[in-house]
Amino acid sequence: MRFWQLSAPEYASDYQQANINGSIDWDLQFPTVDCDVCLTSWEGSRPQAYLCPESLRCEMSTRDHKRSLFHSEHVKLQKKFLDELNLQGEPFLTLRPGGRFPPLQLDIPSRPRADFLWPFGAVVVSARIRDLLVDLCHQDVAIFPVNLRKVGRREAKLPTPIPRSGEPEDIINEAPLLADTSGIEPYFEVVPRQQSREHRVIESQCGACGWIKTKVIQTKKWERRMVEDHWNGERIFYWGGTLFIAVTEDVKNALQAVHPSNVELIEM
Ligand SMILES: [Zn+2]
Repeated sequence: MRFWQLSAPEYASDYQQANINGSIDWDLQFPTVDCDVCLTSWEGSRPQAYLCPESLRCEMSTRDHKRSLFHSEHVKLQKKFLDELNLQGEPFLTLRPGGRFPPLQLDIPSRPRADFLWPFGAVVVSARIRDLLVDLCHQDVAIFPVNLRKVGRREAKLPTPIPRSGEPEDIINEAPLLADTSGIEPYFEVVPRQQSREHRVIESQCGACGWIKTKVIQTKKWERRMVEDHWNGERIFYWGGTLFIAVTEDVKNALQAVHPSNVELIEM
């Protein structure tokens, strides 16, 4: 078996990256956990593969401020969530603290044209890529429409503007925006439902909240090795406990056949 990582291409600068891919925001997410067993406060950065039930929106709201809960309170909230959606699962095994809920709000300084967008913390795709993934691996992936909140009028091909603050994320504040985004092609967030087995070297793991302390965080492209023993059979999945998304060779071939833009497929 061979596996392929979906990856953003290299950009000339952080400004270009921010200009093409934009940035994300959201209204609802699981609170952070303040674990009284390992004395760690933490939250995962993976999105939930489920919509937030109506009855729990208040408890998941980030509108006023981000919330945190002690371990036992978090277990209660996670159980409520599992019951509400009629899901099998265990708190802190099936779910993690901090996961945000769809829909994603996307602010993008240039008019989006690419098949893949890589705002920090999310993978966003065009309708034709959504169709292809639904076709090939609908059981392994949840896909949600993205709300295009602010969209710039410029084309990404023009030289990238540098904001007065010098911060890439401020490009959106100075970009001329489209008054009406209804003419923009829709975009979708891709959320794999499962992950491959943990490949990182685990130093310790909390028995209550599952907090993992790893020895080395492997991030360099050449270090991303996915072996078949770690594979759980999904055609699209997160690589262990990371945010990297991997696909099987048939999905890679189907993607390559449509020549998607703004993505690289790297053998793992
Ligand atoms: Zn803990």
